[in-house]
Amino acid sequence: MSNIICILLSAVLSPLAYAQNREALAVPVEVLPDYITRRVISDAPEQTLSELARTGSVERGIIVGAKRWDVGVPISVCFFGGSRELRRHIVEVASIWERQGALVSFDFGDRIDPNLCRSNRVYDIRIGYTQPGYWSMIGQDSLVHVGQLEESMNFQRFDISPPTETEFQRVVLHEFGHALGFYHEHQQQDEGCEGELNWPAVYQYLGGPPNNWSQETIDFNLRSSRYMTGDIKTDFNVKSIMLYTFPIDFYRDGARNRCYSPGNTALSPGDTQLLRMAYGNEAITRASSTAAITAAVASFSAPERAALRTRLNLFKADQATKNQILRVGNAQFTDVDIKACSTAPATLASVETVTQFLNAEPKVGMLRYRGTVAPAGNEPGIMVLADADHPEITDARRIVASLSSRYGKQVSLAENPGRDRWLLTIVVCGGLRP
Ligand SMILES: [Zn+2]
Repeated sequence: MSNIICILLSAVLSPLAYAQNREALAVPVEVLPDYITRRVISDAPEQTLSELARTGSVERGIIVGAKRWDVGVPISVCFFGGSRELRRHIVEVASIWERQGALVSFDFGDRIDPNLCRSNRVYDIRIGYTQPGYWSMIGQDSLVHVGQLEESMNFQRFDISPPTETEFQRVVLHEFGHALGFYHEHQQQDEGCEGELNWPAVYQYLGGPPNNWSQETIDFNLRSSRYMTGDIKTDFNVKSIMLYTFPIDFYRDGARNRCYSPGNTALSPGDTQLLRMAYGNEAITRASSTAAITAAVASFSAPERAALRTRLNLFKADQATKNQILRVGNAQFTDVDIKACSTAPATLASVETVTQFLNAEPKVGMLRYRGTVAPAGNEPGIMVLADADHPEITDARRIVASLSSRYGKQVSLAENPGRDRWLLTIVVCGGLRP
């Protein structure tokens, strides 16, 4: 799962500000949203790939190679809103990646009025502003683990209050780096910065508010052994746009540390070099990556091999085929609203356990708690509401079946026969009995 995580310490963590005022640093370290992480955790092919990397059967970088975009084929991008000016500004910064002498180009549509996302076509990268933090899926993970109606790259509140120009450029270049398949520079396994960090300080900082991460979570997200390095790499590059800016006291010897950067806001020669290697004529092609993976899974069970073959075929497919595969629902996810009958402790506890249960449903999208709703009765129970004439009814039935396996007859489905849209909503009442 680690291969999809993007953490980006906000630039608010400038070393100076950190030294001056720790209070001002109450900024969350940003990760992919839970609803995406849980899909990856429950995704069999992804777990097979992780297992291959963990056991060393296949280098992690080979797996990344399979997720890279086709060399020389424009990568389509759309925006979920944002003014024309904002979209144009993002295009302007992102296009710096196109001018590095590599075979990389983006299809933004009309660059004066860049693409807004439309439901009748497939876009490789979809940019939104409503999720917490700044993050992006890695390479083609944007098609596999995120639906077409969801953002694959997020710039929180850029549409409402964009950051300073310097920060804007740093964040957009960094996230587009991830979208092209880049990982964090400090997490390279060979020459990474894990050994350079002052771990007690890191644990203390990230273990406190607002992150409150456990040691396990911190290790998972920050230690280099969890990360892929890319099947191609350059020497450690302290000027890389993909290198984090951590507070000075995150490092053993502060600002003198070889891994310390006061903050990079432009592509470095090393970034350009890596891009040319990944998207140049000398690139290791996805075909060779997928062939290596396919060979390594020969000893796996037939279902595991079949699952992985399907995924690799998606990565290998040309754009037209890929669009076809995605159109038939491969990457569609259903958002679910959850409401409670009351704010009674037993009911809220039930809301929490039901939410956790649904977390394991791979096709469930965002789970949004929407407060209380007047109950139809006071009996403990879960009512799933969905529109009878909307495709979501299929998802609702699957969710009902899944919930019933745990909560039995306490679960019911209410189909809305009318024309008013209900959206898929789950109402939880009382203390449920598993
Ligand atoms: Zn990042």
